[in-house]
Amino acid sequence: MEAFETILKGVQEKIAAACQRAGRDPAEVEIVAVTKTHGEEVVREAWEGGLRIVGENKVQEAAWKQPLSVSGPEWHLIGHLQRNKVRPALELFECFHSIDSIPLLDRIEHVASEIGKRPRVLLEVNVSGERSKDGMKPADVPAAIEHVLSACPSITLEGFMTMAPFFPHEKIEETRPFFRELRELRDAMEVEFGAKFPRLSMGMSGDYPIAIEEGATWVRLGTVLFGERPKAKPQRAVDAGDAGESGEGDGSFDKVLD
Ligand SMILES: *Cc1c(COP(=O)(O)O)cnc(C)c1O
Repeated sequence: MEAFETILKGVQEKIAAACQRAGRDPAEVEIVAVTKTHGEEVVREAWEGGLRIVGENKVQEAAWKQPLSVSGPEWHLIGHLQRNKVRPALELFECFHSIDSIPLLDRIEHVASEIGKRPRVLLEVNVSGERSKDGMKPADVPAAIEHVLSACPSITLEGFMTMAPFFPHEKIEETRPFFRELRELRDAMEVEFGAKFPRLSMGMSGDYPIAIEEGATWVRLGTVLFGERPKAKPQRAVDAGDAGESGEGDGSFDKVLD
């Protein structure tokens, strides 16, 4: 196994090269260390390597991992957030990359104002239109921004997130138009709302150099830093709460909790 510092240095060099190609300052690009499915020791490794942001995609996984991990990192939720998990999520994460509906914004605002949190949020946009992907349609973004600005005083909207469709390595250039579209949407929204939305969360292990060339400020990197994820199960058995992960998207839990 290559030492983590060596791997990280290689990634940072690629980030710097992509910035140079695009005439960008590498200081604008930050790595979100995606530690999902790995143990808490990987969070420590990332932190000791100098990374400051940890990305997890499940609330329950962050709930067991966070208390065992070094304190210091900023925890970001990069996966879909179910409305019935907003309350625990707000205790664990300070930034949310994948907010994709007005009802979800309302739920976050409701709980955040109640418990005194000031979450930072990105709107996830499905620029590819793939049905398998989460995220709002680009056409629905203006209404969501309007809603945050007018009705969600606890929420800071920092920008946008997207995932490009999967392409094999030799066709990776084909991800570019999706990243570009998100940046152009951001630029248009800044003009329309006279506001700054500085964060663009785009680019993963396979495509981050292209995302950076197109304006990414947060690249979400798992595999390239920490190796392949175990396919079957997280390293630690998650508690029975995870069994509720499926079949709860219908919002019925919200009514119970409210
Ligand atoms: C897992 C995950 C990543 C990291 O993917 P890698 O290809 O391993 O870098 C990035 N973003 C999201 C939303 C993820 O779920």
